Amino acid sequence: MSAKLIKGTEIREQILTEIADEVATIKRGHGAVPGLVTILVGENPASISYVTLKIKTAHRLGFNEIQDTQPIDIPEEELLALIDKYNNDDTINGILVQLPLPDHIDEKKVLNALDPDKDVDGFHPINVGRLMIGGDEVKFPPCTPAGIQEMIVRSGIETKGAEVVVVGRSNIVGKPIANMMFQKGPGANATVTVVHTGTKNLDAHCKRADILIVAAGVPDLVKPEWIKPGSCVIDVGVNRVGEKPSKKDPNKMVAVLKGDVDFDAAKEIAGYITPVPGGVGPMTITMLMKNTLKSLKFKLGIQ
Ligand code: NAP
Repeated sequence: MSAKLIKGTEIREQILTEIADEVATIKRGHGAVPGLVTILVGENPASISYVTLKIKTAHRLGFNEIQDTQPIDIPEEELLALIDKYNNDDTINGILVQLPLPDHIDEKKVLNALDPDKDVDGFHPINVGRLMIGGDEVKFPPCTPAGIQEMIVRSGIETKGAEVVVVGRSNIVGKPIANMMFQKGPGANATVTVVHTGTKNLDAHCKRADILIVAAGVPDLVKPEWIKPGSCVIDVGVNRVGEKPSKKDPNKMVAVLKGDVDFDAAKEIAGYITPVPGGVGPMTITMLMKNTLKSLKFKLGIQ
């Protein structure tokens, strides 16, 4: 069997088109566009390229976007004052603080200073609580898990009653996606098991999964014999395993990326599978844009 590929690049285009259409409609009807500010502290190259991509996407959708770059030695109080300024800025619907922050800044303190109603990353404890309660309480589901759920739903995969196994229990992927998949509602209502380094017989759990979501950060952790034939395999892992010359510019080296699943073998057993790269990766920024639009809609009372 050869699995159907779930391409994040294609699903991203569908969702971005939907967002752009909605932005245009709201602009016509209400004279407002979503406002997103990205706060970047220092010049970490990986953060810069990620932020650049966010800005490009926000531009394409007609958002009002601000990139606020601060020096690496900004005192913590100044960063907190900056967040306070954007919390009180009516034109801003989403505030994103690019992580990691330098060591002298308490990351938790900074994230907790965000207005939960502008926390489009969904990491503020109030939004984590809202996600746990589920249903109408949820404002901003965290972006990577929200992207995973969209991929499953838009691929027409039945989640109700499905055995979902999540490998990994991080706050940004494992815990929230597990929580989202067992809620009572569309695109969820599944029976969820979360496995981690303390789990015995990891393989036996994975073998039961109708939907296997792997977010461990270990290349090729999931072996083909752990996969239930015909199941859906979502590989969240992004592991740099080497370098190769770029296709665009052979003089430039680019990272060789691998997921947490042995893709070549797994695609012969699974019914659906996400590639790495081009699978879950493109969904994260897409869902950030969706959350920012949602934030404006909440404010306008048009949810
Ligand atoms: P993380 O914080 O390092 O968490 C990894 C989780 O996997 C932990 O809960 C850990 O268990 C578990 N784990 C690690 N090795 C394991 C093993 N051998 N057996 C069972 N469980 C194991 O990682 P993360 O932030 O969730 O990210 C996971 C992967 O997803 C990374 O490759 C990351 O780059 C990728 N990622 C991609 C996107 C995207 O595409 N947009 C977004 C976020 C993350 P313990 O809790 O027991 O230590």
